[in-house]
Amino acid sequence: MLLDPLQARVLFQRAIDNHFAILAVNADSPAALTDVLEAARQCQAPIMIETSLWQLTGHSFGAGDPYLGLARYLVQLAVLAESERYRNIPVLFHTDHIKGPVTLPLLKAALRGLPTGIGNQTIRPSTLSLDSSALTEEQNIASILELCSEARQALLPVTLEMEAGVDDGITPLEVARRLIGDVEASQPGYLALWAPGVGTQHGLGEQNAFSADAVKQHQELASTLTGRPIGIALHGSSGLSETGLRAAVAAGVTKVNWSSESLLIRSRAAQDFYATHGPQLEKGHKDWKATAMDHGIQSFVSARYQPKVIERIQILGGAGQA
Ligand SMILES: [Zn+2]
Repeated sequence: MLLDPLQARVLFQRAIDNHFAILAVNADSPAALTDVLEAARQCQAPIMIETSLWQLTGHSFGAGDPYLGLARYLVQLAVLAESERYRNIPVLFHTDHIKGPVTLPLLKAALRGLPTGIGNQTIRPSTLSLDSSALTEEQNIASILELCSEARQALLPVTLEMEAGVDDGITPLEVARRLIGDVEASQPGYLALWAPGVGTQHGLGEQNAFSADAVKQHQELASTLTGRPIGIALHGSSGLSETGLRAAVAAGVTKVNWSSESLLIRSRAAQDFYATHGPQLEKGHKDWKATAMDHGIQSFVSARYQPKVIERIQILGGAGQA
């Protein structure tokens, strides 16, 4: 089932209490949604699906329009997550790395509910975050506070992840004090995840600078500042070793973003499919149609990809936590 913002908080609390992290997959196509939910079902694990702006405007969803993209994405995910096969799996939808001028208008519209075009029904994400990489501390705080105010005015709950310098080495603790302190001072209760820099980098490079100590210090500080348990969201987990991932969870990471490696596994599988199915795509081959149809390639990709998702859920301790 697709969780609402308050159910999301309950799940994050459970992750802290039971010492596991929720895998958060940047899924960029409907087929990827199917694969990730199926992997979660097989593990009986809670799962998070997240999208950046590039997926919302991408061809499979908004085709240039991020509002349409977000509504279409959410409807697809909701229909799948509420189906009988996945109804017992807690599914979160999160906005990840939304940046630029569309950020606040899009996220405000999302927290109030995007029109689906089906009757008067609207649809809302489970949790929100925005990309702060081009923002000053003041702008980051102001943006988060604006989302909190919008939720307060709309009398709707919102559950937020706040980030700072996720690609810039280890975030100093005084930055956390200023950012989380300022947000909590005027709009308490909305933050559920904190994403500081802990030495990892987005992309596919080596992860030599990851610090589990930094995770632990930030987790404890964020929880002290807010007076409630705050889990750490780990950005840039591709390329982090299994040992590193386990250490991250033990230190207080409750959400692990997974994008670059996930994309690479899928695109390499697609590359292999076409490299090995050339003859079947020749005119007159008896299997040309089954090969040419989307189902052909997506099934091939899925067979390669799903076991990797399952493996990662298991490393993070999510199996059996649904
Ligand atoms: Zn990230």
